[in-house]
Amino acid sequence: MRLKERFHRFRAWQKEPRRFAVKESGPHRCACCGNEFEGNYCPVCGQAAGVGRITWQSLWKNVTMLWGLESNSMLSSLWQLIWRPGYFIGEYLDGRRQVSYPPVKMLFMLAVFYLVVIQLSGSSDAIPLMINEEKHIIDDIANWLMKNPGWGILSLTMMVILPTWVLFRLAPRHPKHTLPEGVFLQVFLSSILIFINIPEMASKWFNLLIPFYYYLAYRQLFGYSFWGTLWRLFCCLLVWVISLLIFVACFEYLYNRRDVISFIFVSIAIIAAILAFGYLISKQTEKRRLKRSESQKQTEEISPNMVK
Ligand SMILES: [Zn+2]
Repeated sequence: MRLKERFHRFRAWQKEPRRFAVKESGPHRCACCGNEFEGNYCPVCGQAAGVGRITWQSLWKNVTMLWGLESNSMLSSLWQLIWRPGYFIGEYLDGRRQVSYPPVKMLFMLAVFYLVVIQLSGSSDAIPLMINEEKHIIDDIANWLMKNPGWGILSLTMMVILPTWVLFRLAPRHPKHTLPEGVFLQVFLSSILIFINIPEMASKWFNLLIPFYYYLAYRQLFGYSFWGTLWRLFCCLLVWVISLLIFVACFEYLYNRRDVISFIFVSIAIIAAILAFGYLISKQTEKRRLKRSESQKQTEEISPNMVK
């Protein structure tokens, strides 16, 4: 029972972790511009209320700021991303920008951190180089991905934007998300992926966290059921794999002059079919959901009269 209670508390925190309270009511005289105000921050110059003498704490705060460790910092954003990825991303998309460290900046800070860890642990020598007779562009790409983890992971996740946009268009939560919002979603997920890559150097088992996090983030963000999330994500994965094949085929065509045009066309047709199929099913699901909520509303309207 206690465990259950704890789980419920955790679920409540996942959905709403913050309480925005006025910590410093007023009136204050701003130490910076002399304005009188009430609340946490001066409305004229933006300085926080209650700024006093410089203490060791101020020094500590200033130093940690250098690494993006202040409140609504990178570390706390990362923490939220790990424990409540979909809800956190949803809040950001809903316009609560203050809750998060700037996502693109976070991704690239993590990429730098990842490179430093690789250098220190000496696993950069362990990068496998496939040496073929024929000069293979894929090897160059793989090398580039290893050296630029930020852009690398981002370019890999970018291929999920279109299928996500189509298949999760009619989702119960965050319906009709825009393509740029889809980009931000993948930026956040890329941060998680890079973060997973760090322990992954020690054990490949950490790779299993990747599908888990995609599932968790999509489920919390879009609000589909277990299976509803799963099959849509599976379609996204299929489209991703086929897109990757198309990408490779394009390079094969450009560099090794292989005849792959028909392959590319067939692949594009398959992607279109998957997306159309998924969209039609989503439309059916949405219709059923709307009907259900409508009939629920009607019974709610009827039942008070029944009591009379
Ligand atoms: Zn001021």
